[in-house]
Amino acid sequence: MARPIIEMRGVGKSFGQFQALKKIDLAVDAGEVVVLLGPSGSGKSTLIRCINLLEEYDTGDVIVDGTRVEPGRQLQSVRQEVAMVFQAFNLFPNHTVLDNVALGPVRVRKLSWEDARARARRLLERVGIAEQADKYPIQLSGGQQQRVGIARALAMEPRILLFDEPTSALDPEMVGEVLDVIKGLAGEGVTMLLVTHEMGFARQVADRIVFMEAGEIKEIATPEQFFTATTNERARAFLDAVL
Ligand code: ADP
Ligand code: MG
Repeated sequence: MARPIIEMRGVGKSFGQFQALKKIDLAVDAGEVVVLLGPSGSGKSTLIRCINLLEEYDTGDVIVDGTRVEPGRQLQSVRQEVAMVFQAFNLFPNHTVLDNVALGPVRVRKLSWEDARARARRLLERVGIAEQADKYPIQLSGGQQQRVGIARALAMEPRILLFDEPTSALDPEMVGEVLDVIKGLAGEGVTMLLVTHEMGFARQVADRIVFMEAGEIKEIATPEQFFTATTNERARAFLDAVL
């Protein structure tokens, strides 16, 4: 067995008195696509944010590619391995689409602008919006902006991609184009952890479903098992409410 690329062991995180994560144990293999499901407030965002240190966990270990992710340290090296795509896109409004994608490699990887822009063009092609390269984010539709967000994450050549509700801020007619890009990446063997409310997509793309509630993992199952035959009462209730 190869070593998992992400290992969480007994990970806990509190905000004041409130325990947002309680003893999370999870291992993700390289190339695996794991979808986190669960009610609002169950800790899904907090869990994935602990992997790239957007949140500092209090207890336990997060190990990425064999190295413990130390709260308060090595932000740069973690962020090179683990990239995140946000619900709200978070693009830089004063940079062109092309430079939004090129900027990270220039700043962090010290690539020349010329090299970074050449790579950025290829990534924009990969997410299907090469023709938008010279526009500014505000000139793009939400779906196009989120595809820039994905290209920007890929520009860092991460080992792991985290998605936190990547389509939740989109108008319904734009959800499909973004999900198609993510499906493509899944097919290319990129390791991904995704939080989504798109159940059909979750079922299609996930190798495993992780179901959370109240800061705990209540079930880990294949999509088939989870969507058709979960025996977990809380998961059943969740599915009854969303399907
Ligand atoms: P989910 O993504 O599943 O909706 P979150 O991980 O965002 O859940 O939040 C889990 C719980 O932790 C929620 O009750 C939320 O209010 C709380 N929480 C998250 N971030 C903070 C924060 N920065 N300060 C205080 N409470 C927080
Ligand atoms: Mg969330």
